[in-house]
Amino acid sequence: MAESAGGWRLGGAMRGLFTRPTIDEGTWDDLETALIGADFGPDVTDEILDQLQEQVNRFRTTDPADLKRMLREALEERLAAFDPTLTLSDRPAVVLVVGVNGVGKTTTIGKFAQFLTSRGRSVVVGAADTFRAAAVDQLATWAERAGADVVRPQQQGQDPASVAYQTVDHATRTGTDIAIIDTAGRLQTKSGLMDELAKVRRVVEKLGPIAEVLLVLDGTTGQNGVAQAEAFIEHAGVTGLVVTKLDGSAKGGFVLRVQQQTGIPIKLIGQGEGIGDLTGFTPHVFAASLVP
Ligand code: GDP
Repeated sequence: MAESAGGWRLGGAMRGLFTRPTIDEGTWDDLETALIGADFGPDVTDEILDQLQEQVNRFRTTDPADLKRMLREALEERLAAFDPTLTLSDRPAVVLVVGVNGVGKTTTIGKFAQFLTSRGRSVVVGAADTFRAAAVDQLATWAERAGADVVRPQQQGQDPASVAYQTVDHATRTGTDIAIIDTAGRLQTKSGLMDELAKVRRVVEKLGPIAEVLLVLDGTTGQNGVAQAEAFIEHAGVTGLVVTKLDGSAKGGFVLRVQQQTGIPIKLIGQGEGIGDLTGFTPHVFAASLVP
């Protein structure tokens, strides 16, 4: 599991910002443009600019290298304001994975199963998105590659809550450490989707507590992604965020923005389509990748 930020392009917007001989008016304009361009959003951008201007004045520095260090520290402090630790100590630890279709939910579950099995944990994956037969097959293929068991619906359109129940029941009977449950993501019927998620939660909770509800978000979607997150947070009891598609993206500011706006910690980062391309979220590594 790569913990390094080597392959990321998150820092693209920041590169070249600090090569001026001195901090001047242009520096602040360029920094604002870079932060907006990297998808920090207007509110976070203003907060960061205010903080840095105040610090630069207080320390009476005109050295761009100082500003760069202050920026990295400011980002790290904000990123670290939330606890990214996954709570997986129950046995079985039940993890619901939610999010709209297309964000990378299936891929993330495959990668997460691999993340866990490679650390010696046993995993069962439940395909509770029962309306998309192809999605069930895709999920099963990922899970099998990761060395996880799979619980599939017996027929297309089976009640998702019953598949979720069978998955946790399987984990309990076989002593499996972690049950990861995929859920539907059809956005067209938002209230239907939220009702379905609520039912899955209710049924699973009959067998024991839910350890984590992870919301998967596409890191390239900006404010739409934040709005999507808020709907799920309101209805689905989200405990952590997974941000995908950050490989090759210059939009890494989304991570800080969505965490600050929703108050929910980022727990995992997806950075590619391969089974190993998921990492835990490490604020100082991420801050360093944003300001290389
Ligand atoms: P779902 O509909 O939410 O289950 O989405 P999928 O898991 O099927 O993923 C949708 C597309 O996004 C697929 O082409 C994936 O390969 C791609 N994808 C998922 N995660 C990542 C990621 O972290 N980086 C990149 N570059 N692509 C990803």
